Amino acid sequence: MTTSEGQQESAVRSYQIANSQFDVAAGRMGLDRDLGVLIKTPNFEMKAEVPIRMDDGRLVVFIGYRVQHNGARGPHKGGVRYHPDVDMEEVTGLAALMTWKTALVNIPFGGAKGGVNCDPKGLSARELELITRRFTLAIDAVIGPYHDIPAPDVNTNAQVMSWMMDEYSRRHGYSPAVVTGKPISLGGSLGREAATGRGCAIVLREAARDYGLDLKKATVAIQGFGNVGSHAARFLRAEGCRIVAVSDAQGGIANPDGLDPEQVLAHARNAGTVVGAPHAETISNQELLAFDCDVLVPAALGGVITRSNAGQIKAKIILEGANAPTTPDADAMLGRRGVIVIPDILANAGGVTVSYFEWTQNIQQFSWDEDHVVAELTKVLTRAYREVYVLAQKEGVSLRTAAYMIAVQ
Ligand code: NAD
Repeated sequence: MTTSEGQQESAVRSYQIANSQFDVAAGRMGLDRDLGVLIKTPNFEMKAEVPIRMDDGRLVVFIGYRVQHNGARGPHKGGVRYHPDVDMEEVTGLAALMTWKTALVNIPFGGAKGGVNCDPKGLSARELELITRRFTLAIDAVIGPYHDIPAPDVNTNAQVMSWMMDEYSRRHGYSPAVVTGKPISLGGSLGREAATGRGCAIVLREAARDYGLDLKKATVAIQGFGNVGSHAARFLRAEGCRIVAVSDAQGGIANPDGLDPEQVLAHARNAGTVVGAPHAETISNQELLAFDCDVLVPAALGGVITRSNAGQIKAKIILEGANAPTTPDADAMLGRRGVIVIPDILANAGGVTVSYFEWTQNIQQFSWDEDHVVAELTKVLTRAYREVYVLAQKEGVSLRTAAYMIAVQ
């Protein structure tokens, strides 16, 4: 798969994936049709121009999006993605996933998502800051600490969040609670940056007990070595797992005897890619998905596990670090083969859970220590996993369908 093939599919699929998963759960629950239409339809969608003057003097107009999917349970919450495949359909699908994720882990937020169609790799820091500030201005009227709270997603980070907070605060006064995933010095929460990867490890630890997987002997392959993938690698290694393969947009590396995530990260920081890290052979992203391992963690983009590669996956468990990595066809094929899929709205819910902790700390102007953050995160995810597993057993459905049934309920 080339990068553009994978990304093209994700742009089309995340909306279809989220809706198809909702429909399966709604059908199983006998949900009233009218209610289903109402809660499936986004509350609000906006598309805005983001014009900026580039370093070479050209004026370029980027397009930004914000979709608020459902706000019945609290302020809308969801990340901001900078990527060439960002469009209304993709953002809407990702916003819907946030609605179901926040409901599943029972935190008082609704679902939202946003993004700017751009390729940050080709942008200077100044251009990135201008895009962020102009996008924040464009969505100023619809965001706010009690209305809609952005966070980092693909290609955005604590720096981008601090620009957003600063831009919003210029008009509304000091407002740290308008975004989460901020630097600690500006009101960020300890443990937020690593929370999604840590959450993946917490959920897998629970599932491993139920499905008879000994983590001390387990092998893991991870697609995507950004925020989610690199932290997942660190925490899974701490659980005793052997990380046998990892990849990023430029390719993958493997070592059946195990990679050292810290060493790979140090290499990636210098080289800009995991490819070429010491003590590893180079593999492609397709080879990574089919790599001989017990647990496969897709932690990059959506729509990467498809009808055409699901049959080659050797892992017994798929832990969805990314949003919507598995298409409905592939999901059904994996189910028939007995592969356990731990769905995105459960596996990667650690990030939004600690975002919720960050928001409450900002509102109360009080900071928690990291042990407290980790203990509360563990409590939330363990309870959510247990509820999903018990319902899946009781109803004879997949973990994904059980997770949606709880969220929709
Ligand atoms: P990131 O930008 O930090 O990292 C993305 C990684 O994916 C990078 O290593 C990149 O090189 C790699 N990648 C991009 N295209 C690829 C391709 N075609 N093949 C293989 N690798 C590719 O982003 P992130 O924050 O780690 O997010 C990753 C996924 O996790 C996304 O689906 C995101 O929506 C989801 N997610 C993130 C968070 C969070 O807290 N950051 C929370 C929940 C879910």
